[in-house]
Amino acid sequence: MEKILVTRSSMPELEEYVEEIKELFESRWLTNMGVKHNQLEEKLSQYLKVRNILLFSNGHMALELLIQAMGLTGEVITTPFTFASTTHAIVRNGLTPVFCDVNPEDYTIDPEKIEELITEKTSAILPVHVYGHICNVEAIEAIAKKHNLKVIYDAAHAFGEEYRGQGVATFGNASMFSFHATKVFNSIEGGAVCFNNSENGLREKLFGIKNFGIWDEELIKDVGANAKMNEFQAAMGLCNLRHIDRELEKRKAVAEHYNRRLSGIKGLRISKEQDGVKGNYAYYPVIFEPEEFGKSRDDIYELLKVNEIYARKYFYPLTNTFDCYRGMFAMGDTPVALDLSKKVLTLPLYADLRADQVDRICDIILGK
Ligand SMILES: *Cc1c(COP(=O)(O)O)cnc(C)c1O
Repeated sequence: MEKILVTRSSMPELEEYVEEIKELFESRWLTNMGVKHNQLEEKLSQYLKVRNILLFSNGHMALELLIQAMGLTGEVITTPFTFASTTHAIVRNGLTPVFCDVNPEDYTIDPEKIEELITEKTSAILPVHVYGHICNVEAIEAIAKKHNLKVIYDAAHAFGEEYRGQGVATFGNASMFSFHATKVFNSIEGGAVCFNNSENGLREKLFGIKNFGIWDEELIKDVGANAKMNEFQAAMGLCNLRHIDRELEKRKAVAEHYNRRLSGIKGLRISKEQDGVKGNYAYYPVIFEPEEFGKSRDDIYELLKVNEIYARKYFYPLTNTFDCYRGMFAMGDTPVALDLSKKVLTLPLYADLRADQVDRICDIILGK
């Protein structure tokens, strides 16, 4: 039986990567904002249609240090329907996450439930473009303006997406991307912070904080960390970026094949295309309603597993049910997110997944 994992990293041909890293063996400049790093920043800023970009060792550190650089305080309103990183980044900055429920259509933060959670301690909203579904950016911006809050997007799933022709990272005060091996675009590990306007010297501040807070040899202005992207990561990013459009086309074809097989099935819900959004087909989440479908999410997960197909329960458990947070803060009432977390399964999706493999997965799910 052929084993199918939930994802498979995109890579260039070996020769292309070797060519890209050759000059590093002469320059011996391996990290600390080298040539490859700077080239990748420039190319990504164009591709993502955003004015400012800073690269990081990974997406988590990008988010954690962005929160530090923005000087957030007190409480941050966020979603529990996300990867551990989003909530951890808030808590590791000494801030309190306040959990807002998601909407049942696209699983992003429900703007109608944000305002009731705002207190005098709230400093920011941290939504997630989960599965690449773009949040209701207009409604979130209106709330942020009215209450004078910052907005940081976790855009780890939204690489290359556009909303009404604008790069997804141009919304809010800043956005974080992840370039982890499992993501749509990878630099092995890696991440970025993007924003159009560098308010209050955000760019300089982040540039310092990702390098120990060192501004120059004798001026250390911030309690920084080490989160620099190295040259070998950047070289992988440069190679992968050359092929990204083709990769996205292939992902789209896989997603469309799933759509053909899984739409209109009773008790099985797939994602709808969002108006005005250029998507990236990052994930293929399916919601199983056990009463109507006859099988639960966990049944399907096990059934696929015995057939050597490894789907993932993204995002289960919710971050506001994590053991490490027990008794630490009010966990909030997020019934929609809780229900989704018990019913969702993300199916294997990557550029090289073949049509016959998608058929095999769907046949198992549909009991054919
Ligand atoms: C992958 C991911 C992150 C963390 O990114 P890394 O590059 O793995 O550190 C953060 N948030 C979400 C939603 C993610 O999927």
